[in-house]
Parts: sequence; structure tokens; C-alpha cells
Amino acid sequence: PPLHKQRHQFVVDFVKRNKPKKVVDLGCGECTLLKMLKFHREIELLVGVDVNGAKVKKKMHGLAPISTDYLEPSYDQLRVELYQGSVTQKDARLKGFDLVTSIELIEHLTPADIELFSEVVFGYMTPKTVIISTPNSEFNIFLPGVSNYRHSDHKFEWTRAEFRSWAMKVSLDYGYEVEFTGVGEAPQGQQEAVGFCSQIGVFYQLGGRDCCKTLLVNDAEDLFSYTLLYSINY
Ligand code: SAM
Repeated sequence: PPLHKQRHQFVVDFVKRNKPKKVVDLGCGECTLLKMLKFHREIELLVGVDVNGAKVKKKMHGLAPISTDYLEPSYDQLRVELYQGSVTQKDARLKGFDLVTSIELIEHLTPADIELFSEVVFGYMTPKTVIISTPNSEFNIFLPGVSNYRHSDHKFEWTRAEFRSWAMKVSLDYGYEVEFTGVGEAPQGQQEAVGFCSQIGVFYQLGGRDCCKTLLVNDAEDLFSYTLLYSINY
């Protein structure tokens, strides 16, 4: 399957194993991943956020229940919410989720915005788990026609070591542990040397939310900086 499907399938498989109740996809784009996740019954609140509101609006109505959804008695209260907003800004409605996903988003951020993103996601939202995917620049030698970055809008593409060092620092700063994996395998025999096409970090919050009390207290005031574009209750 194409790489973008493999990335989304990675999240779906994680959801099947870990059964998060509240899930938010940051940089949800045209809601492709959210549409796959809405079939997972354990999820009670499914949220998408993207800075590009027009992009979200294009296909968001595909998240509405289809008639057969109502014939399924096991659909207990799923709520879907879509917001226009930037991952560099805090919004109190995104606090305390079980899973935050950020698929091919961070490479679109400037270094200053990466700092804000880290603080917003790990320090403010304080989710139990986080899945972050980004290109592995070491793999680019296998991509025909890619001389610099895979897309002109990318601000950087990290090697495995660069991604690791950012992820380990964030984990240390905010009380998480991280596992590294990826999707899209290198040609035979070169997997070890080059790594996956898309690198993925899976972050787990350590010691429950209590360890982050100081941050929570500092941010006690309720911030609502995102604009609600769409919401629906199943
Ligand atoms: N996650 C989707 C996927 O896997 O197909 C879309 C990936 S697309 C390459 C990157 C998305 O991130 C775009 O939809 C873009 O509008 C969004 N984005 C870029 N900067 C953002 C920011 N600061 N806050 C929220 N979304 C942002």
C-alpha cells in the first residue's frame, strides 16, 4: 500500500491495541485518518485540528454518520469535533486526551514553532500517548527525483539521529518515554543502514498526569484559541 496509507494504518493498529477514548489528530488535513478512526468503537471523542480551515472543510462532511451507522447498535456516543487552529497555540479543549497523533506535520514547522509545538503538546495538552511521524532524510537516496526535500513546504527533514535527539529531549523535559519505529522499508539488506521511509516516535506519559502539576497550575486559565468548524454526535 502507498506510504500515507501505511502511516494511517499504523495509527489504526495502535488504536486497536490501546483503545484510547479521546483522540485528536493534529494537522488532520482532509480528515482521511479521522474517517478511518471513526469506525473504532472505543473512541468517544474524535477531534481534528488543522491551521488550514479550507482544507478541512473540503471533505469534513464525510465524517457525518451514514445511514448504516444507525443500524449498528454498538455505536455508543461518538462525538466528532473539527477545529481550525495552530499547534503552536494552546486550547483548553485539547487537554487530557488519551492519544494525540501528528502525522507528517512537524517538518512543516520552523524551529521556533517546533519549540512551541513541544510545549503545547507535551507540556499543556499532556496526553497519555503521542504518535509523531516525519520523513527520514536518510531514506531519500531511494526516492527518485528528490534532491533536497520531499516537498517544497518542508522546513527540514531529519535523520534518525536528529529525530531521536529532539524526541529524547522532549521526553526528558515533559515526563515521557519514547519508542522509535517507522513505516516503508528499505530495499533488501539496507533496512538497518538507512531506516524506514517515514520515521515514527511513540511517546508514553510516565507516572500519570500528577508529575506535570506545576505546568497545569501555571496554565490554569482556560484558553480557547481554536475555531470550531464542525461537530456531530453519533
Ligand atoms: N496529517 C495529514 C496526513 O497524514 O495526510 C496531513 C499531512 S500534510 C503533509 C500537513 C498538514 O499540517 C497540512 O494539512 C497543514 O495544513 C497542516 N499544518 C501545517 N502547519 C500547521 C500548524 N501550525 N498547525 C496545525 N496544522 C498545521
